[in-house]
Amino acid sequence: MRVVIAGGSGFLGSHLCEAMLARGDTVWCLDDFSSGRAANIAHLLHLPKFTCTPCDVTTRVRVFGHVDAVVHLASPASPEDYQRRPLQTLATGSRGTENLLELAVRHGARFVLASTSEVYGDPQVHPQDEDYWGHVNPIGPRSVYDEAKRYAEALTMAYRRSRGTDVGIVRIFNTYGPRMRAHDGRVVSTFIRQALAGAALTVHGDGSQTRSYCYVDDLVRGLTAMIDSPCTGPFNLGNPTERKVRELAELVLLVTGSRSPVRLLPLPVDDPTRRRPVITRAREDLSWHPLVPLEEGLRRTVEWFAEQPETRVRPPQR
Ligand code: NAD
Ligand code: UDP
Repeated sequence: MRVVIAGGSGFLGSHLCEAMLARGDTVWCLDDFSSGRAANIAHLLHLPKFTCTPCDVTTRVRVFGHVDAVVHLASPASPEDYQRRPLQTLATGSRGTENLLELAVRHGARFVLASTSEVYGDPQVHPQDEDYWGHVNPIGPRSVYDEAKRYAEALTMAYRRSRGTDVGIVRIFNTYGPRMRAHDGRVVSTFIRQALAGAALTVHGDGSQTRSYCYVDDLVRGLTAMIDSPCTGPFNLGNPTERKVRELAELVLLVTGSRSPVRLLPLPVDDPTRRRPVITRAREDLSWHPLVPLEEGLRRTVEWFAEQPETRVRPPQR
């Protein structure tokens, strides 16, 4: 297969590039490096089957030769990133999605959209299955991301209906692992960075809000299955084990052995109170389910962060 991965130098994208290359596929990564990092893909650059082109997908997108699949992972993804770049987030979800759909049409390729659990907003149905239409504030600070992804889903389905494009949509729930940025503001990377530095863990609200955390290797297996599948979805991809944010803080302290205190901060506006995926469809149609328990995934993630220059754990000075 020859696969275009937009957003391929980001956290999920770089793991996906690696997984596709490992099974013999050819990968063309497109990225504007706004939140992705060259270091994430530096070890792939010497491979003959890997190409990376700097490219903002909201402008013209061109690749040469045949293409079997276009995977759209390009978007700011952490609340800090997308609230800092609201217009770019909307443009990437709208114009960027259209440009990548057109690329798929020109090449007769399958198009796979990385959507998000945020399309469910602050859900009033729990847990969330794909038939739930969501509860999104269309003008709140998170709306630039949520509505861009909802529009991207609508556009993807419109291409399927009106142009017969072969498309697939996955709704990704909170995913964590090596190559998250230490300062991306997401909860797992933030708690690990704070715990390794002996700084207070910043829990928003009273920490009773829940999320369901999926380890990156599991998520990438799900994405790969969707690329290979003829299904349209949408399919939820995530780990259905739900944890309160304060439980996550305790777990990070346990795994790191840190004695950091916990500091309570105000809950951000429109922060969803709970989130857990129903994954029956992905189980049945993609034969996919997550395998890595949170404790094990956190251990692997902490090990990685402990080796990074920004968050390295130094032996105590004499
Ligand atoms: P990330 O920020 O690490 O990766 C996004 C990548 O897209 C980066 O490499 C960035 O430079 C690139 N990008 C952004 N705008 C671009 C543009 N206009 N043109 C070209 N490249 C652009 O985030 P991630 O966690 O790897 O997320 C990847 C995708 O998965 C995103 O679409 C995100 O919405 C979706 N997603 C992720 C999660 C998660 O928990 N990680 C959850 C739900 C959905
Ligand atoms: N959160 C927190 N402390 C932090 C960062 C995040 O308590 O330092 C909370 C955040 O308010 C949310 C949850 O952790 O309730 C998950 O946040 P994240 O930004 O990782 O993902 P999202 O809100 O997009 O699910």
